[in-house]
Amino acid sequence: MSTENVHLHEINKFGSQAERWWDRNGEFKTLHDVNPLRISFIQQFIALQDQRMVDVGCGGGILTEGLANKGADITGIDLSQELLDVADLHGLESGSSAKYIKISAESLADAEAASFDHVVCMEMLEHVPEPGSVIAACAKMVKPGGYVFFSTLNRQPKAYLMAIVAAEHVLKMLPAGTHDYKTFIKPSELSQSARNAGLELVDMIGIQYNPLTKAFSLGKNIDINYIAAYKRPE
Ligand code: SAH
Repeated sequence: MSTENVHLHEINKFGSQAERWWDRNGEFKTLHDVNPLRISFIQQFIALQDQRMVDVGCGGGILTEGLANKGADITGIDLSQELLDVADLHGLESGSSAKYIKISAESLADAEAASFDHVVCMEMLEHVPEPGSVIAACAKMVKPGGYVFFSTLNRQPKAYLMAIVAAEHVLKMLPAGTHDYKTFIKPSELSQSARNAGLELVDMIGIQYNPLTKAFSLGKNIDINYIAAYKRPE
């Protein structure tokens, strides 16, 4: 592998939870719940039909399959073989056209520069040692004029309270230990790294959770979980 930009403990942690990935009401319920919202955000900017795309850090393929269902010609990449196996198996059952490869973002960018119409990378940057390197790889993979979508958690106290204390420990919406506050990324840091990689910010929106209705929604508040659209200039 041509990159060291990986925490093996993160890969092992996610891999050990692989068989529960597609349990709609299990530990990854949150990813299932936010999936329609992130797909609708993406669709505000691009038409998915026949677009050659890559999903970086795809896990068991929740977003990858969702985008394939909308017509994208999409490949998910991850470094967890267990999760890629789960993604493959689920795709066989559901008849999804999504494909999966075990490769790092950096290696794929070296092999296939400027060859994807659009790139998505969600809930992944906060799990790698150098998010800037993944951001640069995504910028390198996408064709000029293409979009790159990122989502992550904001490093500010409210996110610690909501994404770790509430979500992991009180409401038990995520497995305890999923997130580490110091790896969270401020929107300004994400945009700075994206700018360094030659990407222009197009839009940024918050993903909010209402504990009373137990529903997620997109909104202006980017204090906790947020999703951003960047474009590689023509
Ligand atoms: N993007 C998916 C899964 C998010 S969970 C979704 O939002 O539905 C985070 C994923 O990042 C896990 O699948 C984990 O294996 C992966 N990951 C962590 N470090 C990685 C790295 N360096 N390269 C590729 N994938 C990585």
